Amino acid sequence: MTQLLEFKNLQELMTKLGDEQVCRAYMEQMRWGNEPFCPHCNSTKPYKLKDGKSYRCSSRKCKKDFTVTVGTIFENSKVKLSTWLAAIYILTGHKKGISSLQLSRFLGVTQKTAWFINHRVRLIMDLPPEPLDDVVEIDETYVGGKLANMSRGRRKKWQEANKDNKTAVMGLLQRDGKAKLEVIGNRTFKEVIRGNVHPTATIYTDAHSGYELLSHEYAGHEAVNHSIQEYRRGLAYTNSIEGFFSLFKRTIHGTYHYISPKHLHRYCAETTFRFNSRQIKDADRFKATISNVEGRLKYKNLISKA
Ligand SMILES: [Zn+2]
Repeated sequence: MTQLLEFKNLQELMTKLGDEQVCRAYMEQMRWGNEPFCPHCNSTKPYKLKDGKSYRCSSRKCKKDFTVTVGTIFENSKVKLSTWLAAIYILTGHKKGISSLQLSRFLGVTQKTAWFINHRVRLIMDLPPEPLDDVVEIDETYVGGKLANMSRGRRKKWQEANKDNKTAVMGLLQRDGKAKLEVIGNRTFKEVIRGNVHPTATIYTDAHSGYELLSHEYAGHEAVNHSIQEYRRGLAYTNSIEGFFSLFKRTIHGTYHYISPKHLHRYCAETTFRFNSRQIKDADRFKATISNVEGRLKYKNLISKA
């Protein structure tokens, strides 16, 4: 196996990964290592076809052809692999994210294409969760609509009209550790917490009734009662998670302006990814997402109303 390409910055990446064939070989190494597998049946014994990029499954029941992009966010895309890889480097390296308009200028693609690339890259930023532990702050926030530039009167009217358009998001943050943002949807607060926090953790929340009885399931639980102006009692406070929320809202309102509730979970994944990878190098952040390329998001699903 040839040495895996390394790059220290975008310029190096674009020089080394400027050619489509090289990009393809790079993706094959990142996704398969030495062992290509069939995305249709997971058989590990395909053989390479003469065109240099396709493989044929040798399993008698399958026999299907595929390339390294089948089953990934690149599948059926007309955008060059070199453009995709540069886009991933730019998007994962940027602290607050980039609007599709800006990205379209960087890459020389239409805004529609940039918008689609942006969403697909968010999909691979959604890395498999690691449960939070030790001391975990939990809080909820409501997101929706563009309010920043509205006059107070209009804002009030807008809020009245869009009351149900607000989407509840839960934030969970391990002090001195990783954080997580999740759209709550139809789940209870506790269901979201169980999916993200190890039972040995001590949890700090506000006094919302959704957090009641958490002490039965976790090593400890204390709530501060914001409604009576109590914000801190010893170690019990939720300031860190509130800081994380303001980062999230700055990203949404500052970079993207308006976000439809349908796509909100992907912006949650994006903010979570940026926060959790804040101390690693751009190149490593790039590799972490590249190795998570499996996951397809079709354009028609992205724009459907459902
Ligand atoms: Zn197969």
